[in-house]
Amino acid sequence: MTRTGIGYDSHRFAAGRRLVLGGVTIPHPEGLAGHSDADVVAHALTDAILGAAGAGSIGGHFPDTDPRWKDADSMVLLRDAYATVRARGYAFVQCDITVITEAPKIGPHAAEMAARIAAVLGADAGDVNVKGKTNEGMGFIGRREGMAAIAVATLERR
Ligand code: MG
Repeated sequence: MTRTGIGYDSHRFAAGRRLVLGGVTIPHPEGLAGHSDADVVAHALTDAILGAAGAGSIGGHFPDTDPRWKDADSMVLLRDAYATVRARGYAFVQCDITVITEAPKIGPHAAEMAARIAAVLGADAGDVNVKGKTNEGMGFIGRREGMAAIAVATLERR
């Protein structure tokens, strides 16, 4: 039996922060504001994986009021969330992630992000797809105020 979950996340751009997406630090004039490292890719995927298992949300497992998660490496949150769903009897099958931003270009970094995510999940990089889209200049993403990510993950019951 397979189950599917969806995750969405967005963060505001902020000066003086590293831009970390899918565990990869990407050269860019601005990073993203957040309690943790604000890795929108990791956050969206974490929510998708938790959702597929019916295991709640990233905010429930890692509240942003908890000082433990201040400046946290979000790939550690992803790893912890996956441990939670494995304990409930689920195994990762595949995921697809869309990063929506006007800049930077995601394509040149997509393979490295997929490899990092796959390593955390003990999966093949081919089972992790990462792609980028612009928002055609519209809305908060178009105004370059922030970026968003959407993830869909499939788990199977073991
Ligand atoms: Mg987030």
